[in-house]
Amino acid sequence: MIPQNWQQSLFTQTAPELGNQYRDDPLLAGWLARVLPADVLQAIEPELDELGALAGGELYRLQLADRLNEPTLVQWDAWGNRVDSLEVSPLWREAERLTVRHGLVATAYERTHGRYSRIEQFAKVFLFHPSSDVYTCPLAMTDGAARTLIESGNAALIARAIPRLTSRDPATFWTSGQWMTETTGGSDVGRSQTRAVEQDGVWRLYGRKWFTSAVTSQMALTLARPEGNAPGGKGLAMFFVEVRDVEGRLNGLRVDRLKDKLGTRKVPTAELTLDGCRAELVGLPVNGTRAIEPMLGITRMWNSVCAIAFMRRGLALARSYAERREAFGQPLARQPLHADTLASLEAETWGAFLMTFLLVELTGRAESGQIDDQQRALLRLVTPLTKLVTGKQAVSVVSEVVESFGGAGYVEDTGLPQLLRDTQVLPIWEGTTNVLSLDALLRSDLHSGLAALMGRASACVRSLTQPRLVAAGKQAIGAIERAALWLESGQDREVLQSGARRLALTIARGLQLALLCEHAQWLLDHGGDRRGYAAAMRFSRVPVDLIHEVDPELDAVLLSQR
Ligand SMILES: Cc1cc2nc3c(=O)[nH]c(=O)nc-3n(C[C@H](O)[C@H](O)[C@H](O)COP(=O)(O)OP(=O)(O)OC[C@H]3O[C@@H](n4cnc5c(N)ncnc54)[C@H](O)[C@@H]3O)c2cc1C
Repeated sequence: MIPQNWQQSLFTQTAPELGNQYRDDPLLAGWLARVLPADVLQAIEPELDELGALAGGELYRLQLADRLNEPTLVQWDAWGNRVDSLEVSPLWREAERLTVRHGLVATAYERTHGRYSRIEQFAKVFLFHPSSDVYTCPLAMTDGAARTLIESGNAALIARAIPRLTSRDPATFWTSGQWMTETTGGSDVGRSQTRAVEQDGVWRLYGRKWFTSAVTSQMALTLARPEGNAPGGKGLAMFFVEVRDVEGRLNGLRVDRLKDKLGTRKVPTAELTLDGCRAELVGLPVNGTRAIEPMLGITRMWNSVCAIAFMRRGLALARSYAERREAFGQPLARQPLHADTLASLEAETWGAFLMTFLLVELTGRAESGQIDDQQRALLRLVTPLTKLVTGKQAVSVVSEVVESFGGAGYVEDTGLPQLLRDTQVLPIWEGTTNVLSLDALLRSDLHSGLAALMGRASACVRSLTQPRLVAAGKQAIGAIERAALWLESGQDREVLQSGARRLALTIARGLQLALLCEHAQWLLDHGGDRRGYAAAMRFSRVPVDLIHEVDPELDAVLLSQR
């Protein structure tokens, strides 16, 4: 006989919960306490607290409720006019409001706290990003465009755009796109086909831009080849484009369609045809790929911060779930193997976090003129390294997070599949892992960068007194030394290139381990918090040195079809 109210006795799992993402997390707060002067920390903490509460509360709830909304493109109006108007999701509209209110771009340019302003900015972004449905994509490009225009020295464009890109007023705030990738390639942009034609002092662009994210932006920086210029990157020039005129009409371009993407589905990424798009030359009519480099430096830093923020979000959810979900008589959190799995993810996140915020700190120094030659060389090398290693770490950590929820992790309305899909873009855009590995390996200043990196890692190790941290620090130095030796061992170019990713990851993981040891020692010495120590120990158990010889000929056999 089935009891009448049998359904009431069925088990229902409680959902994971997020608390205040700043106050509840020792990672960001502990690092800020180490690097910021007390008065700066005191000044910025109330806003971090507010953002932490928002990101784990109201904004997170809005994000879950907004899950099914996607941007829409309306190409024609009822009367046959081409309008290409775009509507974004309610969460994105809220994210724009919050951006302006919290100065997520502006903070870096107001520089209220001098060289610490980048740290302030990215502490806010770290909290905001995971609840924003990648609204950070246009913000990264906005920040990158502001820096690029400032470095271009073009006074008229600086006066026109910078107050808008860094505005705290919703009525005047602009975001920017970067239109580089064409059908010919995003890695090898030198193959771009877009033409720039000058007539009566006015430049017009003709071509197809294949990936243009956040096409809602009011302006863009783009590359095109002035007529008669040489092929390759040097023959391209950088242009400034305003997307619409004052009446809202598109400036000589069409939005052909929005991409149907694996993730970042809230980001309207479009294919554009430029058909007489009026543009302004930013600097010289050549060397566009070089001119747009500051954009990439900034967007790669944003990418790294977004990577650690996604890892942190995934872990916050996984840890909460592990407390609530029972299996075999106890919460998952107390199952030794589940705890072991989460601990390994935690250690990866700490390592990625410390390297990313080193990059942020160095950028703040560079922009406020408080950087020496060694730090500058380090900044140049850690920019591609941090982007590439954190992108990989984020995908691997978030994938494990999804698994840690079992079947629930695979179900859309938990929000977890979206987290994984959105994370998967991080190793692809702003330079793929391979392209950035080669960028690091083939740069002319690699030796000075590597020397500076070794100097920074050695300084970390010199600060250590705890014996096991000393041993882990030596392991970090050993890995970086081996990478340097391998580089100098006279390998031919093909072998060097095929090993570039292993080399880059070895150097990056070596630096992460050294930074972990340094931070762990500081935490032990200032209040005895052992979490950093635990992270360093755990990180040191995973191979740091990934360099090994491979035979490119055998690889060719492996890849051959018969
Ligand atoms: C969601 C999304 C949004 C985007 N938004 C923008 C945007 O707003 N603006 C913009 O300009 N672009 C944008 N992109 C494009 C992005 O930057 C490119 O997709 C990326 O740079 C890779 O270029 P590609 O797609 O042409 O791949 P390819 O360059 O064809 O690369 C294919 C593969 O080959 C590898 N590879 C290439 N060269 C080498 C080499 N020499 N050695 C070893 N391996 C190599 C790469 O690592 C990659 O795995 C976006 C992409 C995505 C997915």
